[in-house]
Amino acid sequence: MSIVQVALPVPMRKLFDYLSPSLLPGTRVLVEFGRRELVGIVIASRGDASVEHDKLKSVKSVLDDKPVFDAPMLALGQWLAGYLHHPLGDLLSSMLPAGLRRAQPLPDMTIEMLELTPKGERQLEQKMRAKQQQALMSLLTQGAIPLEQAREQFSLAVIKACCDSAFVVRKSVLREPSLDWQAHISLGNIPVPTSEQALAIATVTARLGRFITYLLEGVTGSGKTEVYLQTIQPVLLKGQQVLVLVPEIGLTPQTVKRFEQRFGLPIGLLHSGLNDRQRLTVWQQARSGEIGLVIGTRSAVFTPFKSLGLIIVDEEHDESYKQQDGPRYHARDVAVVRAQRDEIPLILGSATPSLESLNNALHHKYQLLQLHQRTGHAKMAQQNIMDVRSHSLSYGLADPMVQKMQTHLRAGGQVLVFVNRRGYAPSLVCHACGHVELCQRCDAPFTVHKSVGRLHCHRCENVRPVPRQCAQCASHDVLSQGVGTEQLEEGLQRLFPQYSSVRVDSDSVRGKDKLPQLIDAINRNQHQILIGTQILSKGHHFPRVTLVVIMDVDGALFSVDVRATEKLAQLITQLSGRAGRENRHGEMWLQSHHPDHPLLQDLIHNGYAHFARHALSERKAAHAPPFVQQTLFRAEATELNAAFEFLNETKALFTHNAAVQALGPFPAVQFKRAGRFRMLLTVQCYSRKTLHASIAECLPVIEASKRGKKVRWSIDVAPTDVS
Ligand code: ADP
Ligand code: ZN
Ligand code: ZN
Repeated sequence: MSIVQVALPVPMRKLFDYLSPSLLPGTRVLVEFGRRELVGIVIASRGDASVEHDKLKSVKSVLDDKPVFDAPMLALGQWLAGYLHHPLGDLLSSMLPAGLRRAQPLPDMTIEMLELTPKGERQLEQKMRAKQQQALMSLLTQGAIPLEQAREQFSLAVIKACCDSAFVVRKSVLREPSLDWQAHISLGNIPVPTSEQALAIATVTARLGRFITYLLEGVTGSGKTEVYLQTIQPVLLKGQQVLVLVPEIGLTPQTVKRFEQRFGLPIGLLHSGLNDRQRLTVWQQARSGEIGLVIGTRSAVFTPFKSLGLIIVDEEHDESYKQQDGPRYHARDVAVVRAQRDEIPLILGSATPSLESLNNALHHKYQLLQLHQRTGHAKMAQQNIMDVRSHSLSYGLADPMVQKMQTHLRAGGQVLVFVNRRGYAPSLVCHACGHVELCQRCDAPFTVHKSVGRLHCHRCENVRPVPRQCAQCASHDVLSQGVGTEQLEEGLQRLFPQYSSVRVDSDSVRGKDKLPQLIDAINRNQHQILIGTQILSKGHHFPRVTLVVIMDVDGALFSVDVRATEKLAQLITQLSGRAGRENRHGEMWLQSHHPDHPLLQDLIHNGYAHFARHALSERKAAHAPPFVQQTLFRAEATELNAAFEFLNETKALFTHNAAVQALGPFPAVQFKRAGRFRMLLTVQCYSRKTLHASIAECLPVIEASKRGKKVRWSIDVAPTDVS
């Protein structure tokens, strides 16, 4: 027996000793912890015991014969836990697919087969339905075939009928990983790259096998995806694997099809719509080297690979790469460290790079690759601001805007209208006394959802019926105020009855496959007017859209969040990038009450690339990120004072190093949520290393704090928002 140090998924920043046969680091074990049983990861084996041997418990069972974390992955996890100041066990647990967080061994790699039964064989001699007979015949001649293949060959109804009559059975059989995908690559049509694309492709492919981070800054529709495809190609042909990260809702069938058609290979997909078993299968296939290409969202950055040769992070600026609870890692930052450790290239692509990445490129930490032109005949959309102050509005749209829409629709184009509120209206107000219906748990206005007759709090998911009377003065004159997607859809159907409108927001795309279906219907021109939130801005290629209308984003011009303007510029540019992507000329109109605002003027006239470089110089002058490094302490409690006092006490710890500054506590943008008050403390320093060391030094004191026990607190390294 030796002593193993185990990382457990508990909020304590320490390891736990157990007795066990000697085990390799990265192996999962089941252990007793207090009254619970937990799955932990072995970090190391030691000879000497800190507690006498007979006081130590033995591990209950060893779950793996081969560690689920190989040495590089375990080292990555240890580095990340350190970087985030997060308990190692909890971090390692969240790096694993959910199926491995449970006390179950890694399942064997099996495949579902369809096989002919003796009964089915006898049946073939009798008269039977032609389609069933056909299916049974091919099973007789081909032997058992994979269920998936059978689904393509015969109809689902036929398979079901044959199963029900016991002519065929489904069988799980053990499967040897087939490692020869490399031999099956069949390249689809490869377009001739533009000269800018060719330069980018050549730069990356000339130096595979080395760690270099590239920032591919290419305007919308400039063919970034084509650059990815042509840099992936030589990597796959060498027999190495490729990981492509995409934003949360960017993983559309359109994208997947493009990759499939290019390489003729099955692709491992990892996204939130999968069940645990499906995730685990892709995890195993990537680890065994059985698939060449994995495309996935944030957590796919932790996928183990047998031989990884290239990582790509598409739309690298996208906020969904940052995890906003538990270990608050940023998948882009993890990708950088992973590429560095594996000594492979990494491509960060975006039309609107984050200021962090751009700054790294301008300081030659990353290599900048630029695409200035759209491919083919497509031109960038013309960008304009509409001063709404002098116009009357219908459903929030200025009159000249309605006319523009009419013109584009008549010419056969599609129109995309962006509004940043879902629901019917963002608040309900009493016309008699001015009372606004607030969610008591959040002190925030309820959103009106007229179609379901409910008020909905988008912070805490509190729901209640729409009141008929004012709660304060009993007046019946209660009105919804402001315009959300639902109301706009209703309005546009009235304004343009001869065209079909479709709403694309998180309410309307709820449920698997809903978004792909809507996108498909849009591209078949079943709808001419597209109304939506952020979702519509993400990478979609709608060839028929010629006009993009952006309603009311003025709020972001005056936000307390230093990142608000960057996010706004990214949003406007990405939305504008949906127009005129093929032969039709496109234009974007932004409605504003502040048409002369310097940010809008710069963006419209000089483009994102110019805006971003200017914004960086402003950030520098303001001593703001990315020029100063920040870490946030977040605290929330039902009593405001508890959160406030804990953060004040924490703040007082940061006086030992003059280079480190603690600012706050100040209220989060969502000051109250679900009955809890939420406060923030910013700790900052010019050096990430000094900041890190300083926090690490204070952490034991903070963890032991009595005040800390009365609040929920967490650490957010390099925060991306203060909501
Ligand atoms: P991005 O990813 O930068 O938004 P895409 O890669 O989606 O751009 O390219 C936009 C359109 O241009 C797509 O329809 C794509 O098929 C096409 N395209 C890209 N590169 C080329 C090329 N070299 N020649 C012809 N068409 C191209
Ligand atoms: Zn009232
Ligand atoms: Zn609420």
